[in-house]
Amino acid sequence: MITDQSDRKVHQQIPPTICYPVETLPAPDLKLLKQFRAENVEKYEELLIPPRDARCFSVPKGGFFRITSIEGPQVGDLNLWNADNINEKFYSGKTRALHGTHVCEGQQLWSTFPYLRPMATIVEDTLSWYGVDCYGGSVHDVIGTRCDPYTNNLLSGGQYHQCCHSNLTRALSAYCGLPPEEAECYVHDVLNVFMCTGFTRNTGQYFMKASPVRPGDYLEFFSEIDLIGGLSACPGGDCSSEHSSDTAKCFPLLVEVFAPKIGANYSPWVPPAVNGYDKTHGLDLVQLSV
Ligand SMILES: [Zn+2]
Repeated sequence: MITDQSDRKVHQQIPPTICYPVETLPAPDLKLLKQFRAENVEKYEELLIPPRDARCFSVPKGGFFRITSIEGPQVGDLNLWNADNINEKFYSGKTRALHGTHVCEGQQLWSTFPYLRPMATIVEDTLSWYGVDCYGGSVHDVIGTRCDPYTNNLLSGGQYHQCCHSNLTRALSAYCGLPPEEAECYVHDVLNVFMCTGFTRNTGQYFMKASPVRPGDYLEFFSEIDLIGGLSACPGGDCSSEHSSDTAKCFPLLVEVFAPKIGANYSPWVPPAVNGYDKTHGLDLVQLSV
């Protein structure tokens, strides 16, 4: 049955409402975090992420990690886990719902239910100048899931093994000593570091274009809890043409970890607690009503 469409224009002209206003979220104190960066930490580790491959690394709470482009334009796919409980993972979808399709300085990466707390805060971004281009594109998206061999097989029938999903699976398996089939279950939707993406205006499809990242550019994070990070140097390279193949020119990425010095003063910052919802889900109300 076709419903009455006579008031179509009236409906279309209703202004949108932001689904999740974030005014009630405590805003990270960037000035304080930058002071911690200057005074509280020292370099602990650096590692190279080889092209079309991934590595994991640990960052203690109160530490920082920096992802840097070093040899040529390259996109990175980032996963985060709570180092003490890898069931608590980065929640790309809720981060998108709270902050928007692309993240920037001062915004936070949130964890999955039932934890839903900040895992990391972006403290510095040398691509912040890019803004939003005439196609609606921007950098560092939480839209794309990660390139993966299943979608590739679905669309092309191929068997490709260096997608970010597989790279992260191998890296987590090696880092945590998990069988690959178990590690795969912990790999999740990513933050697309340096990737330039958006949605087409006419069809609403996810698009990518050449990343503006150049050697020397970096994205730096403050670690709100003890973290394991996983970073894949995407087989799409700068993601200007295609991924899920060996066609694109790819480059390594550099990860540097900065850990707290012994006795460092973090006052008044405290690590975020897990979410305060009581997890009863109305079950107690159901019991009362029968
Ligand atoms: Zn990828």
